[in-house]
Amino acid sequence: MKPTSFSYHRPGTLPEALALLSEYQGAARILAGGQSLMPLMAMRMARPERVIDINRIDDLKGIRDAGDTLTIGALTRYNDILRSPLIAAQMPLLAEAIGHVAHHAIRNRGTIGGSLALADPSAETPATCLALGARIVAQSTSREREIATDDFFDGLMSTALEEHEILVAVRIPKRPTALPHAFIEFARRKGDFAQAGIILAPAHDGMPENRAVIFGIGPTPWRSAALEAAFGGEGFAAAPKAALKDELNVYFADDEAAAFKLPIVMTLAQRAFARLKP
Ligand SMILES: Cc1cc2nc3c(=O)[nH]c(=O)nc-3n(C[C@H](O)[C@H](O)[C@H](O)COP(=O)(O)OP(=O)(O)OC[C@H]3O[C@@H](n4cnc5c(N)ncnc54)[C@H](O)[C@@H]3O)c2cc1C
Repeated sequence: MKPTSFSYHRPGTLPEALALLSEYQGAARILAGGQSLMPLMAMRMARPERVIDINRIDDLKGIRDAGDTLTIGALTRYNDILRSPLIAAQMPLLAEAIGHVAHHAIRNRGTIGGSLALADPSAETPATCLALGARIVAQSTSREREIATDDFFDGLMSTALEEHEILVAVRIPKRPTALPHAFIEFARRKGDFAQAGIILAPAHDGMPENRAVIFGIGPTPWRSAALEAAFGGEGFAAAPKAALKDELNVYFADDEAAAFKLPIVMTLAQRAFARLKP
C-alpha cells in the first residue's frame, strides 16, 4: 500500500519545527529515522496530514558529557550510540541493549528519540532508559520540561509527551564503570522485537534505587517490585516467585499467554541475577 497524501515540511531549526507542530497540532507527525513511521503510513495505520522532518536539525544530534549525566540528542542514531566511546565507557548497558535492536540498516536510521516517542512495549531502548533512571527532555514553543522515565510510558504506545512537544533529548545518570548490570531478552530470531526481556541495574550515587525492568509483556515496560526485592540478598533464588507471578498475571488476558510467557520470564530472571554476580 501507499500512504495517504500529506504535506512535507523540513525545518532547519528547532524553533521552526516547534512552530510548525504548534500550528498543525493534531494533524502533524514528527519524522525522525522513519523506521516505524514510514511503514505505519504505508500500511495506513498512521495518516498524518503533515509530516515534519527533523533530520536537518543538528542541535538534536550527538552525545554530550554533562557532568553527572550523559545527554543524548533525540536524533542520535542507534549506530552512533553503538560507536560512541563515551557510551562504551560510561553506559555499556545501553550499548548492549541497542545491539539487540533490529538490523544494521535499521540501526543506521533509527533514533533514540523515535524509539522513546513510539514507546513500543517490546522495544529495548525505552526499557533500558527506564532501568537507567533516565529523564526525557520535552520542548514546546513555550517551555522545556523534564519527565522521569517512570512517568513517561503511560499506556500501549502512549507517552506523557504532549501533541505540541518534541522529544529533544534524554538525560541518563552516569554509572560507575565497575558496576555490574544484566540485559537479557528472548526473541525468536536475532534482531526481532523481544517477546520478553529483563534488565537489572543496581543502584549508585546518581540512581539511589536498584532497578529491575520487565519488557515485552504488557502495554509498557515496567519496574518489577518482585525482582527489585531480590537485589542484594540471595538473588532470584530467594525472590518471591509468587509475587512475580502475581505481577505478570495482571497482563495476561488468558491462560495460554500466561503458560507461554511465565516460564520464559522465570528463566530470564534467574539468568539475569546470575549475571550480576561478580
Ligand atoms: C524490520 C524492523 C525491525 C525492527 N526491530 C526492532 C527491534 O528489534 N527493537 C526495537 O526497539 N525497534 C525495532 N524496530 C523499530 C526501530 O527501532 C525504529 O527505528 C524506532 O522504533 C523508531 O525510531 P525512528 O527514529 O525510526 O522514528 P520514526 O519512525 O521517525 O518515528 C516513530 C514515532 O515517533 C515519533 N517521533 C519520532 N521522533 C520524535 C521526537 N524527537 N519527538 C516527538 N516524536 C517523535 C514520530 O512522530 C512517530 O510517531 C524495527 C523496525 C523495523 C522496520
